[in-house]
Amino acid sequence: MNKLDEIKEASKQGLTFCFAGVGSAFAKKNDQTSLIIAKDGTTILVDIGTTIPQAMTRRGIKLTDFDYYHITHSHADHIGGLEELLLTYRYFLKQKPNFIITSAYQDILWEKSLKGGCEYNEAGLLRFSDLMTPCRPEWFKSQPREIYQIEVAGIHLQIFRTIHIPGHVTQWDQAFWSTGLVVDRRVLFSADTRFDPQMFEDMDTSSIETIFHDCQLFGPGTVHASYEELKTLPKALRKKIWLTHYGDNYDQFVPEKDGFQGFTKAWELFTWPETAKK
Ligand SMILES: [Zn+2]
Ligand SMILES: [Zn+2]
Repeated sequence: MNKLDEIKEASKQGLTFCFAGVGSAFAKKNDQTSLIIAKDGTTILVDIGTTIPQAMTRRGIKLTDFDYYHITHSHADHIGGLEELLLTYRYFLKQKPNFIITSAYQDILWEKSLKGGCEYNEAGLLRFSDLMTPCRPEWFKSQPREIYQIEVAGIHLQIFRTIHIPGHVTQWDQAFWSTGLVVDRRVLFSADTRFDPQMFEDMDTSSIETIFHDCQLFGPGTVHASYEELKTLPKALRKKIWLTHYGDNYDQFVPEKDGFQGFTKAWELFTWPETAKK
């Protein structure tokens, strides 16, 4: 049984998360942050950074083993392994992977990142739609910030805009495309964001059980939330937070002492049993 089979088995008990990597873009001790979501045997891979193909291989997992894929934003620590995934599907499997992607981000991802390596491989020019099958989240109207939602195989996803880049921007609608996730209305994954207290209000985290938040271990938090900034959150919120996307100097910190759950470890399983719901 490889690690993915173990994750699928655990997901029969309920929604399951397992991070293939928990590191920052520059981390060397950990692979870059990448999340496997599973429920009842169905899997979604969220982000495929540069180090993720090898991280998967070390665990006997193929990049193509997942039912769905989702990308939070276009930094290489989130998309560096994506070309390999798309070309493996096309030329070895002769299939198209299922991508949970809005049409707005589909254009950005293709035009600004993927086109260079993916467009010129055959006699005719390839388009993104030749390389993947989009599963379209719908815009969730009348929300304080831009949110899309979709349900795939019983997994409910809310995709919400975050404030990540550029560093001086303070409002989500001025930021370049970056998104986080709320899964089954129970678990929030911030992906990459600056410190954004309004996000916790907009996404109503009072009713969310667990939060995985990116964390920069040095200050100031220009494009990520810094550890010191996250420490200023109310105690009740910190108690729900597992830190992800952290640098190699993590052994200088004891997040449990500061009221957090701790540093998320790669390949650790988190399961939220169905019975505990409501
Ligand atoms: Zn990142
Ligand atoms: Zn980023």
